[in-house]
Amino acid sequence: MKQLLILGAGTSGTMMSNHLRKTLPKKDWQITVVDHQENHYYQPGFLFLPFDIYKTSQLKKSIKKFIPKGVNLIQEKVELIDKDQDQVSLKNGEKLKYDILIIATGTDIAPREIEGMLGDHWQKSVFDFYTFDGARNLRNKLRKWDGGKLVVHISEMPIKCPVAPLEFAFLADSYFKNKKMRDKVDITFVTPVSGAFTKPKASKELNYLLEQKNIKIVPDFNIEKVDADNNKIVDYGGMEVEYDLLVTVPTNMGDDVIERSGFGDELNFVPTDKATLQTKVKDNIFAIGDATNIPASKAGSVAHFEAEILTENIQRYINGQELKQEFDGHANCFVETGDGKAILIDFNYTHEPTTGHYPFPNFGPLSLLKESHMNHLGKLAFRWIYWNMLITGKHIPFVSATMDTDGKDLEPEQEITH
Ligand SMILES: Cc1cc2nc3c(=O)[nH]c(=O)nc-3n(C[C@H](O)[C@H](O)[C@H](O)COP(=O)(O)OP(=O)(O)OC[C@H]3O[C@@H](n4cnc5c(N)ncnc54)[C@H](O)[C@@H]3O)c2cc1C
Repeated sequence: MKQLLILGAGTSGTMMSNHLRKTLPKKDWQITVVDHQENHYYQPGFLFLPFDIYKTSQLKKSIKKFIPKGVNLIQEKVELIDKDQDQVSLKNGEKLKYDILIIATGTDIAPREIEGMLGDHWQKSVFDFYTFDGARNLRNKLRKWDGGKLVVHISEMPIKCPVAPLEFAFLADSYFKNKKMRDKVDITFVTPVSGAFTKPKASKELNYLLEQKNIKIVPDFNIEKVDADNNKIVDYGGMEVEYDLLVTVPTNMGDDVIERSGFGDELNFVPTDKATLQTKVKDNIFAIGDATNIPASKAGSVAHFEAEILTENIQRYINGQELKQEFDGHANCFVETGDGKAILIDFNYTHEPTTGHYPFPNFGPLSLLKESHMNHLGKLAFRWIYWNMLITGKHIPFVSATMDTDGKDLEPEQEITH
C-alpha cells in the first residue's frame, strides 16, 4: 500500500483529503492527514467576530467532521520533515513514511517578530484579530471601549487575506456609527504599502472609501517597534503614530516545522512552483495554500482553486505524466466596506482587479470592483459555502479554478505580486 501524507487539516488539507479520497484507488493508496488542533476554524469569520456580527459557535467545528471516511486522521504536532528519508516525525515520537507528501500547514501570526508587540499590553490595548482568541478578546474589549484613537495596522507583507485589515477599518466605522459614538473614535489605517491595497487599481477605489468614511491612512510605514509605555508605534524612519487601541496584523510566518526541516524561506514559506504546486524541495513533495511562497494571495479562495489543479497534478505525478502548468494565481475576495455593502475583486498573476460581472460575464449577479449590497450578501453566504461545499471538496458551480477573462475590462497582461 502506498502512502500519501497531508500535513495540516485546515482549508487546504481538508479539501485535498476530500478530493484525493475520491480520485485515488482505496486498494492502492492510504491517505493520512496530521493536525494537532481539535477544531477547524472559519477564519474569514474572525473579521466579523469583534463586531458581534458572528458568534464564536459559528466559526469552529471539529476537524474530524470534515475528514472523509477512509482517510486516517492523526491529531498530533508535526516536528520534522526528513525529505531524504521520505519520513515525517511527530511530537509523540511516531514516524510516518510517505510516497507523496502535501504540505498544507498554513501561516500564523508571529507577534514576537516586532519589538515591544508582546508584553503586558498584548490582548489588553494591543490586539490581533487573525486568531480565534484574538478576535474574541477584541470583541470583549470593543463592547466596553468608550472611544479614542483606534489604529488598524499591518506589520509587513505578505499577510493572509491582505484586504482583511482594511475591511476591519470599514467595519469599525459602521460599528461605532451604530453605537452612536463615531464622533468619539478617530480611526487611522497604517500600512507598509503605499496605498490602501497592494494593487494600484483597487487601491484607488478603496482610498476613496477611506476618505468618505473619514479614516486616515498612513502609508509606507515600516514598523520598528511598539512603544507600549507611550502608546505609540514607531517606524524605521522615526515616524510615530499614537493609539489608545492598536489592532495589528503581526508578521505572518509559516510553521516552525518548515524552518526545522531546513527548506523554508526567511518567513518559513515553502519554495513552490507557482504553476504546478510541486515544491522545489523534492519531486514527491507538493505544497498548497498559505504555506507556499508563490506570489498569489494567501486566501481560502486561492487554496480552493489550487486544490482542483493540485488534485490533477498528483494523479499525473502518480501516472508518470508531465505536470500541468495551470495555476494562474486566481483569487477572488469580497471586500466588506461596511453599512451592509461589499466590493468583489477577481484577479490573477497577470491581471489586476477590474470592473465587470461575476460569475456570469454579462449578468453577474455580483459586480466587480463596485460596492453593492448583493456583494455583502455574497460574503455572508460564503460561510455556508465554506462549511458545506468548499472544504468537503464539492464543485462550486460556475466558478472556475483559473480566471475567466470574459466580460472584464482588462488591461494588458503584466506580472504582479500580491
Ligand atoms: C481575519 C481573516 C479573514 C480572512 N478572510 C478571507 C476571505 O474573506 N476570503 C478568503 O478566501 N480567505 C480569507 N482568509 C484566509 C483564509 O482563511 C486562509 O487563506 C486559508 O484558511 C488558508 O488555508 P490553509 O489550509 O493554507 O491554512 P490553514 O487553514 O490555516 O490550515 C493550516 C493547518 O495546519 C495545521 N498545522 C500547522 N502547523 C502544524 C504542525 N506543525 N503540525 C500539525 N499541524 C499543523 C494548523 O493547525 C491548521 O489547522 C482570512 C483569514 C483571516 C485570518
